[in-house]
This record gives sequence, structure tokens and C-alpha cells, in this order.
Amino acid sequence: MTRASGSLKLDKEKRKVPHSSDRHKVVYEEASFSLLSKMTCDPRSWHLKLDKEVIASLNKWEGIILRGIPYGESNKIVTLFTREGGKMTAMARGAKKPASRLAAVTQPFTHGSFLIRTGRGMGTLEQGEPIDSMRHIREDLEATAYASYVVELIDKLTEDNERISGIYSLLYEALHAINEQYDPEAIALFVEWKMLPIAGIHPILHQCANCGATEGEFAFSFMQIGFICHRCFHVDKHAIRISPSQLKLIRTFYTVPINRVGNLTLKKTTKIFMKKLVRTIYDEQVGIRLKSRSFLDQLDSTPELLPRKEKPKESDE
Ligand SMILES: [Zn+2]
Repeated sequence: MTRASGSLKLDKEKRKVPHSSDRHKVVYEEASFSLLSKMTCDPRSWHLKLDKEVIASLNKWEGIILRGIPYGESNKIVTLFTREGGKMTAMARGAKKPASRLAAVTQPFTHGSFLIRTGRGMGTLEQGEPIDSMRHIREDLEATAYASYVVELIDKLTEDNERISGIYSLLYEALHAINEQYDPEAIALFVEWKMLPIAGIHPILHQCANCGATEGEFAFSFMQIGFICHRCFHVDKHAIRISPSQLKLIRTFYTVPINRVGNLTLKKTTKIFMKKLVRTIYDEQVGIRLKSRSFLDQLDSTPELLPRKEKPKESDE
């Protein structure tokens, strides 16, 4: 994982931090480090939270810009997701001016190292240095559309300063994979499945949701939010019958880390099936509306809008 080169001018600022809060900060960093090292990409473990208060200080944090809105003549209010402090909103003074040092680094999707002053109320983004400007995402219409969807979904399902481990890595892995030109549709799908627990949905995928059986034929039940076995088909007449390979695929989407499934090439029909399942869950159980989704649906129905690309051969026949 790339880290910033540390060339931000931190030294002078560091000396201003009073000794006691400096010590507090070290404790916090150790705590978050031990959580990170325990972290797995299995969403079931994502209930881990750090509930220490945000300490009023100057922090150099790694993060990704989710969005920015103009504020006044020359400022921007940016929302970014940081590895160390979770999602936060910060004022970037002067960032609206093209000549500003902050103009480029506050563009959506930018992965960078940020110097943020926190305290009560909104933080201030003092400096920023790009680690990756996500050039492909910026330049490719389809990549932009799916990256916007990923960012909006994560943004909608999280609160400021709520540190849930796992989400930063999910965002990081997803955007980097899209930027490295992996199938953006598949990557967005992985994010949708993996964000279910954050939306409060914990699908039962390791056994029958009704009787606990692990053997037999299975169907996916929206009523039970999970698999039901053939002995229990009567509990939900609308459950969708699935094949053993579809069952395996659903489990993979929910539990396997994105960086380990990046090479998987999915057929369009497989993606449509997986999308139907997860979007029905979001629509029925979570009820969030995403602006970027209607654009994606439009792209899906009018693929001629997209420039032709050399597509890799689909391999999961
Ligand atoms: Zn059963």
C-alpha cells in the first residue's frame, strides 16, 4: 500500500501540539493500528469501532476525496474518507481557485495525504498531496460512472467521524481496481454486497436461514434475506431457486476481499443476476436513492453511448 512520502511541512506544526494531546494521539494511533491488523475483509467482523473522540489537533491522514461543494467565492467544502479518522467534512480555503494548491488534490476520487485540523465542528484541510489522482477514472466515462456509484453508496451509508474499520480499505481497493481497468461493473457489485452489513443487513449465507441445514438444494429468499433449503421452500414461495455455482458466487461476493477477486471475469448474465439480488435487497430493506444509479441504468440500456473497447474474453462459461 502506497504511503505518502512525508514531504508535507509537518515539523513546525508538530511542535505546537501540546505534550498531553500528543501522547493521546500516539495511543489512538496504536489502537487503530491494532484494529487494522486484526481487520479482515469479512463484513461480519465490521462491527469493530473506535469510540475515542476526535482529538483537536493537526493530523496527517491518508484519504480519498468523495465529493466537494463550492462554498463562497473561493472555498470548497470537501467530504473525504480517511484511513485513520473515517469520513469527515473539511473546509478547503481557496480550493475553488484553479491556481490554488488545493484545487487538484480536492477533486473527487483523488487518493492523497492530507493535513487536516480537527476540533469541534468542521475541520480544515490545510494541505494535501496526491498519491494517485485516479487518471483512468477521470478520463473514462464508464469508469467515472461506476466509481461515482461506489463513492455515493459508501457516502450514503456512513456518518462523519464514525470509524468502522474495513470501509476505507473497501473504498481504496475498489477505486484502485476501477482505475487499473478491472471490470468496473463487477467492482461496483462487490462493493454493493460488502456494504450490506453497514446498511444493517446481515444476509444468512452459510446455512438455511429457516432450519440451519447446510446440505440440500437452495433458494434465495428476500423475506428471510438469505438462503433457504429445499425442506423450507414453503416458508417463502417467492424465493429464487439457485444453482450450486450461483450459491458459491453469492458467498464470494459477500466475503472474499476485492483484491483477491479482481481477476475474476464475469459474464454479463451473471452480473445481471447478482445485481438483481443485491439491488432488490437495497430497495426493499434499505431504501436509499442514489443519483449515480440512474445514470448507470441509462448506460446499461444505451451501451452505444460508450466508446468501443477491446473486451477481454469472458472465461466463466
Ligand atoms: Zn431449511
